[in-house]
Amino acid sequence: MIRFDTDPESLAGALAGHHFIDGALVPAASGKTFPVINPATGASIGEAALGEAADVDAAVASAKKAQKAWAAMPARERGKLVAECGRVLAEHAEELGRLVALETGKALRTESRPEGNVLADTFVYFGGLASELKGETIPYKPECLTMTVREPVGVVGAIIPWNVPMFLMALKIAPALVAGNTVVVKSAEEAPFCCLRVAQIMGEILPPGTFNILSGFGPECGGPLASHPDVAKVTFTGSVETGRIVYRAAAEKLVPVTLELGGKSPMVIMADADLDRAVDGAITGMRFTRQGQSCTAASRMFVHRDLHDAFVERLVARVDEMVMGDPLDEATDIGTIVSPQQFERVQRFLKLAEEHPDATLHRCSKVPDDPALKGGLFVQPCVITGIPNDHEVAREEIFGPVTCIIPFDDPDEGLALANDTDYGLAATVWTNDLKLALNAVHTLEAGFVQVNQNVVVQPTLPYGGFKTSGLGKEADLHAMLEHFTHRKTIIINLS
Ligand code: ADP
Repeated sequence: MIRFDTDPESLAGALAGHHFIDGALVPAASGKTFPVINPATGASIGEAALGEAADVDAAVASAKKAQKAWAAMPARERGKLVAECGRVLAEHAEELGRLVALETGKALRTESRPEGNVLADTFVYFGGLASELKGETIPYKPECLTMTVREPVGVVGAIIPWNVPMFLMALKIAPALVAGNTVVVKSAEEAPFCCLRVAQIMGEILPPGTFNILSGFGPECGGPLASHPDVAKVTFTGSVETGRIVYRAAAEKLVPVTLELGGKSPMVIMADADLDRAVDGAITGMRFTRQGQSCTAASRMFVHRDLHDAFVERLVARVDEMVMGDPLDEATDIGTIVSPQQFERVQRFLKLAEEHPDATLHRCSKVPDDPALKGGLFVQPCVITGIPNDHEVAREEIFGPVTCIIPFDDPDEGLALANDTDYGLAATVWTNDLKLALNAVHTLEAGFVQVNQNVVVQPTLPYGGFKTSGLGKEADLHAMLEHFTHRKTIIINLS
């Protein structure tokens, strides 16, 4: 095994130019690569292997070859190996955190190190669920023994985004593997090395072929993976637009999909809410520490008119105190936007907001003046007031540090505004009135609804959206059973 230290640049350098196929680091079939850029400096981190159809074929063939023996292993043995991956990944959490910070620009202390930890925890959690892959017995006829058993679907294709690459990958591969499937992952082009390093660590524990990872671009590498005839299930996290493409590819083959797509998640702050708690929740909910690059981001905040001005003032003051800077510096709260394309997208929405006559843009925090970071993709977090809920900035997913605050006068109006969106991923409501809270949780059209808190996605809490936010849940036992197994009905006539 190649020796690594925890310096993220040498890690990336050692992994450069490789996929992970059949238990080994291998170059792309074509030998081609593409550059991965550090968004905090604009400097190259290394060249990643450019995956294409031939690489997909090799990875899927390896996964297919490995699948029968992997599925034949007692479930708890598989679970133990997956949990062991979690234990070893935990030992590497710091190095993985540093690597994801380098690739994505997410601050180490607030975002990237926690990602390294939750990644490991996800493997431990799913590893422990192996004995829950149970079927049922059915009282069909006394002379028949009738039951269902759960069988793996086969080779799973997983396509993942860059914002929380290792954790979102773990939410797919850990349950898929525990259920007896083998996996081929297509990492995001912005963050290939952290996922490759995870694969390499897992490769020391799992049999060759059980887990393969390819780097490359969407249409050239993700496309052939989604449509590959031997991929029996596709699981995707990313944009709505790409989700539709992946869904179509799966529909052609009639294989199941899980889609975790976008969001424009509302926070509804009722007149009796505890304002300080709501401001804390707004900071976590909006993922300001991740530059708002989250599909769950609370990017629409509906505040009762009585609290509106005080809420805006306190939120702006708190975000203003956050430190933007070098993602690897422990003092940094907020790092950078991931890529120039994403940077441009955020600027476009800020410009649209500026053009609205009633809008006020509260730009918070400060772009760092360190000359080493002058090529960095820093964007000041922005709290916008004065724009209506039907404005583009309040309707479209920006995936940047931009939130809108919109006043309302009565609870039903607040909830109606919250539901007036194409998305339905997450929602929070802030009130101490039990009746109001109960009505709100039943009324809000979202897959993940919280009252008086705003926790981030984590194993045990089923997560997934309604409306255009996706199909299916992830992160718990039911997700593993529903998305990574088939139920087979067996009737044994004993007469
Ligand atoms: P984002 O805009 O956040 O990058 P995308 O949906 O474009 O979201 O990307 C999420 C993942 O989907 C990435 O791994 C990307 O490479 C992949 N992807 C993009 N286009 C396609 C496509 N046509 N087919 C399959 N995968 C794709």
